[in-house]
Amino acid sequence: MPVEEVFIALGGNIGDSSTIVEQAISALDNITRCKLRGRSSLYRSASIGDIPQDDYINAVVKIETSLEPLALLLELQAIEHAYYRNRENEARWAPRTLDLDIILFGNRNIDDSHLVLPHPEFSQRRFVLEPMFEIEGDRFVAGYGSLSYLIDHAPALEMEKLD
Ligand code: ADP
Ligand code: MG
Repeated sequence: MPVEEVFIALGGNIGDSSTIVEQAISALDNITRCKLRGRSSLYRSASIGDIPQDDYINAVVKIETSLEPLALLLELQAIEHAYYRNRENEARWAPRTLDLDIILFGNRNIDDSHLVLPHPEFSQRRFVLEPMFEIEGDRFVAGYGSLSYLIDHAPALEMEKLD
C-alpha cells in the first residue's frame, strides 16, 4: 500500500482549545494506518470573517498514511464529532470546537464535492503556512511555490506562536 505524506491543519476557538488541539493531535496519531511524523507549536490567531468571536488556537501536523483521502476525511470528521462539533448549526467561519482540514495529500489534486486538495484556501492562511514552515522549513509546494514566498504574499493576520 503506498504511503503518502499529509498535512492537516487543526483549529478551534470554543472551550479549552489548547487542550482540545493537543488531544486531537494524539487522536490523529491513533488513527489506523496513520503515523504522526511532525507537528508545529500551538499558535493563537485572530478570527477571520464578519462574526465577532474569540481568537483561535491553531496547529499543523504532518502524518504518513496509507488511507485514501476520503477515508482519512471520514476519520477526521469522527474526531471533530468527538469534540461535539455540531456542523448543522454552524455558519461559515462561525466559532467551532475543533476544525480539522486536510491541507496537502502527497501531490494529489482532487476536486470532489466532499474534498478539495490541496485545500483551496491554504495559501491565503498564515495560521496554516507559518506552522507548516515551522515543521518543514522553506519547502516547495508543487503548483504554489515555496512556503516563504506564500507567507510573504498571504494577507496580514494577527497571530503569535505560543510556548
Ligand atoms: P471549513 O473548514 O471550510 O471552515 P467545514 O470544516 O465545516 O468548513 O468543512 C465543510 C466541508 O468541507 C466538509 O464537509 C468537507 O467535506 C469539505 N472539504 C473539502 N475539502 C476539504 C479539505 N481539504 N479538508 C477538510 N474538509 C474539506
Ligand atoms: Mg474544516
